[in-house]
Amino acid sequence: MKYVYSFGDGKADGKADMKNLLGGKGANLAEMNLLDIPVPPGFTLTTEVCTEYYKNNKSFPNELNSQVIDCLSFVENIMNTKFGDENDPLLLSVRSGARQSMPGMMETVLNIGLTSKTIPGLIKKTNNPRFVYDAYRRLITMYADVVMEKAAGIEPKEGDGIRQKMEHHLSTYKNEKNLINDTDLSENDWITVIDIFKKEIKNSLGSDFPDDHNAQLWGGIEAVFKSWNGTRAISYRKIENIPEEWGTAVNVQTMVFGNTGENSATGVAFTRNPATGENKFFGEWLTNAQGEDVVAGLRTPNPLNEDTKTNETKDLPSLEELMPDIYDELYNIRTRLEKHYSDMQDIEFTIEDGKLWMLQTRVGKRNGSAAIKMAVDMMKESMIDKNTALMRVNPNQLDELLHPALDKDSEQNATLLTKGLPAGPGGAKGRVVFTADDAESWNAKGEKVILVREETSPEDVHGMHAAEAILTARGGMTSHAALVARGWGKCCVVGCNELNISVDKKELKVGEVTVKEGDWVTMNGTLGKVYLGQLDLTPADPDKNQEYKELMRWADETRKLKIRTNAESPDDAKQAIKFGAEGIGLCRTEHMFFDEKRILAMRKMILSDNEGDRRDAVMGLLPFQKEDFKGILKAMEGKPVTIRLLDPPLHEFITLDDNQINELANNIGIKASLVKQRISSLHELNPMLGHRGCRLGIAYPEITEMQASAILEATAELTTEGVNVNPEIMIPLVGTVAEYTDQERIIREVATKIEKQYNLTLKYMVGTMIELPRACLTADEIAQHAEFFSFGTNDLTQTTYGFSRDDIGSFLPDYLDRNILPEDPFQSLDVNGVGKLVSMAVKLGRDVNPKLKIGICGEHGGDPKSIYFCKNNGLDYVSCSPYRVPIARLSAAQAELN
Ligand code: PEP
Ligand code: MG
Repeated sequence: MKYVYSFGDGKADGKADMKNLLGGKGANLAEMNLLDIPVPPGFTLTTEVCTEYYKNNKSFPNELNSQVIDCLSFVENIMNTKFGDENDPLLLSVRSGARQSMPGMMETVLNIGLTSKTIPGLIKKTNNPRFVYDAYRRLITMYADVVMEKAAGIEPKEGDGIRQKMEHHLSTYKNEKNLINDTDLSENDWITVIDIFKKEIKNSLGSDFPDDHNAQLWGGIEAVFKSWNGTRAISYRKIENIPEEWGTAVNVQTMVFGNTGENSATGVAFTRNPATGENKFFGEWLTNAQGEDVVAGLRTPNPLNEDTKTNETKDLPSLEELMPDIYDELYNIRTRLEKHYSDMQDIEFTIEDGKLWMLQTRVGKRNGSAAIKMAVDMMKESMIDKNTALMRVNPNQLDELLHPALDKDSEQNATLLTKGLPAGPGGAKGRVVFTADDAESWNAKGEKVILVREETSPEDVHGMHAAEAILTARGGMTSHAALVARGWGKCCVVGCNELNISVDKKELKVGEVTVKEGDWVTMNGTLGKVYLGQLDLTPADPDKNQEYKELMRWADETRKLKIRTNAESPDDAKQAIKFGAEGIGLCRTEHMFFDEKRILAMRKMILSDNEGDRRDAVMGLLPFQKEDFKGILKAMEGKPVTIRLLDPPLHEFITLDDNQINELANNIGIKASLVKQRISSLHELNPMLGHRGCRLGIAYPEITEMQASAILEATAELTTEGVNVNPEIMIPLVGTVAEYTDQERIIREVATKIEKQYNLTLKYMVGTMIELPRACLTADEIAQHAEFFSFGTNDLTQTTYGFSRDDIGSFLPDYLDRNILPEDPFQSLDVNGVGKLVSMAVKLGRDVNPKLKIGICGEHGGDPKSIYFCKNNGLDYVSCSPYRVPIARLSAAQAELN
């Protein structure tokens, strides 16, 4: 079995399409070699090594050692040096590389191969002892942290890790010696610091830093494999739905140094602007630095070129200005890579003594509007076709365009707290917290929070996810915070240098202004501004975005599934039409009863003890309901509107305190005690499985009669006015065909009466919601009568699993943590269980009634994965909340292409 794949000098065992085996980084390093792009030679240990390692109780396959030795000599031959050589030692880096990039979630060890034996040789060769000792202390720091502590399973207290201890020693040393930057330390300073580090390692971790190059290499390799199951990686995988079985590959590569002097540099770039999508080369770099210096945000990076300069960085020299020849070479590689991969690339490079090396290329993360712009632009540049463009945008990314921005007026009058780099778009407001754990726990209590950090690290991801927005004092546009926020489409401002954060005191200061934990701030992530207090947010208007409109037009041409919306007011309906809804899939009528004028009639109806009183009370609601339906039918002119008859348990209308009971008793002229008695007689132990849905209309047929009359009179009147309306009357929670036919009969009788009264033929349909397993099992019986089915997958999930949709929060986190459920079944349809019932009902129903119209109106109607399922199972439409309509349109197109 081949476990190790080498690359270098224009040759490679692997290539780009071997990501599953070599990981993204390894596959692309191989591919760049095949493209003759300069890459430091090295080799990749496959993801299969990782899976075998875990399968075999953390031991490596037998053949691995000899394959590594072979690949190492391949590298040594190219570099004409030897690993561990006393005179001219080869140094190596060891990095992770999963199939899908997991930025910063796993470990890296650089400068492997520096030992007491090799250091003198390297000093002689480079004639730069300061550089060698600096490299050595970096190795020691990383190795102690990654290999000797994390991989060894040592879990120090927060702030008490070996890395922090070493950093503390270093800053104490600098303070004592009055040194400000790391670059101020001399060769002898580093020798002293290294000695202190080694003692601390022995002291804290109980063993010596290894002085053998092979021990360092294998320690590094094993630690990276172990980091696949580190806490950070696990929590990132969960958020991104990356399967545990994938494993990571490990890349071992010749070290090249961006920190050998002023003729060396390192940088990160995107082939197009990841924030706006503009076709402009975009990046950041630092002279005399190693890669981690750019991403860590400890120094403000320089702009790559003129296009990358901002107000803050306009005076810093660009690579284009400082090293024009190398910039040209890099620009050329940028063009070749983008053309070769037909997508925007995120690249890392190092310049060592005037020679350019590429360290990485991968598909770059981008925010939603940038993703749309790039997809449409690249299609127009003939780089990709229309279908590829449609597949390029993650439907959930559209969310960003649909999300609020800061209200302009509100922003104009606001008090600016500070400014930074605009790393993640849109507006957000929330209460300030200073740790990721606080962000998570406040969020769990329903608070909107802004996570404020000096800079973020992968340890913070859970808090970043929970926060409305992220604010950091340090870091650039390629910092960890910026990358993660962009991936999620989250509002984010980084590099606010003025922020003075004290995590201990739970406060931040900007000059004289103090913001304490829990205080509100509002952020404009598009401009990089932070304001005190709460400002207004305005809903987005994606129609102003031409590329969005174009992409959505392509999506509409491609999809066959219709997209409807769940709406119960004319305003919601209009908003949904703006977003592209083609009808209403669910109009819940119960909310129409909560208005002050109506609730009394409703309560009277519920509390009456005889049919006459009840009928009087219900019919009092008819004029109101008719107006409601006229409004909504008119707003949806020409489009189908599914109106559901009353569904919730009655007690929802009569949850009253003593004052309200007295008021009600007065109003209807009965004793308060009688009202109380009647309320308690309606009490149910299990109301969601109680007297609700069609069971209400069966017990109180006058409710169905009133609602059918309201819908059909509205229809008749609008039809007379020349408005084209298409109501679909939906009977909820049917479990047997007899329930259905009982209610249908009432509706048809009402219709006949109204047709006579208005002297016209009504255009309407009657159908049912399928939300009970029994309805699915007997769908053939129901479909003989019903004209349409609409799957209410909220209740269908509830009744299939037996999980209360309102109480699942108490145990769901445990279920997800322990992989008992892969995801929340109320968000993404449980294809294996609930989905099986849906498929069965579709088949049973269509077999007896081929014209049966079928849709879905549960929350799943706006979930991309569930939409794929609906398309594959022959549904006619999905219905979702207005703000998810564009997401559903694109998902439906993608489902067609898949
Ligand atoms: C459903 O059950 O899926 C549904 C759409 O109805 P509701 O959420 O109103 O119960
Ligand atoms: Mg329901």
